[in-house]
Amino acid sequence: MIKTGEVSWTELDFTNKKAEREAKQKEREARKAANKEKYVKLKKDQENRFRMATNAHEYLVHSKWKPTGDNIDASKVQTWGYSIKCSGVGGQTCPLCVSGHKPNRQWYIGVIERDKVNGDKAKILDAKRSIVEGIKTLTKMEDWGHPSMYDISIFPDSSADPKNYYKVTGCIPKPMTGDDIELKNSIDTEELVRMTAVPTPEDVQSSIDRIVSFASIKPAPGAATTAATTRSTTPGAKTASDVVFPPTDASDEDSFTFQDADAS
Ligand SMILES: [Zn+2]
Repeated sequence: MIKTGEVSWTELDFTNKKAEREAKQKEREARKAANKEKYVKLKKDQENRFRMATNAHEYLVHSKWKPTGDNIDASKVQTWGYSIKCSGVGGQTCPLCVSGHKPNRQWYIGVIERDKVNGDKAKILDAKRSIVEGIKTLTKMEDWGHPSMYDISIFPDSSADPKNYYKVTGCIPKPMTGDDIELKNSIDTEELVRMTAVPTPEDVQSSIDRIVSFASIKPAPGAATTAATTRSTTPGAKTASDVVFPPTDASDEDSFTFQDADAS
């Protein structure tokens, strides 16, 4: 970090910023690739099959937040908007709730993703309310019960009414195999707990500030990522991944707004 004004001889810093930036960029790309492996991407208009391997981990999130103003990244706002976890839990305030934006309930669930071609994998499903409600309904039915006992089929039906976009059905109950249990044990449930930690109002505010000030830095073309790096290393600010997490593929594919209305 460059310091202006009086600088002590030990503080004088001539580290190679370019190499540092390139390393950060590489790190981000690696994280992106890892996220792709880590999170479920629901395929539209076909069966997506899973075995639930953990309980659901609930969190509140402001999704599809589309701020307006000159400094906003237009391409982002025109598509999916931003997702920021809500701090309005346990008596805390939340700047976005105060501004009138409604948060949604969402759930991270550790699952075994069935893949006949490439083999089953342990992943995290970032599930919308209608999916979790569908699973909950199955748990109350005599032939199904606890969702660790059978596979769940999720069929995102683009021709259906948005309210019925996700068709959730149970598959014939079968005990987990040895491989299933190994995959289940590979899931870090502590991580799910960490991921659903409630941010502070200050965390939310600094995420908002970062987003709103994005273009005001006016980076040279192609240098936008550099600006992002600089912002995320602001002292006291959380890294972007702490609060503003990349929309997972499930929400990428979901262009409907019905979830916005169903938070309670
Ligand atoms: Zn909120």
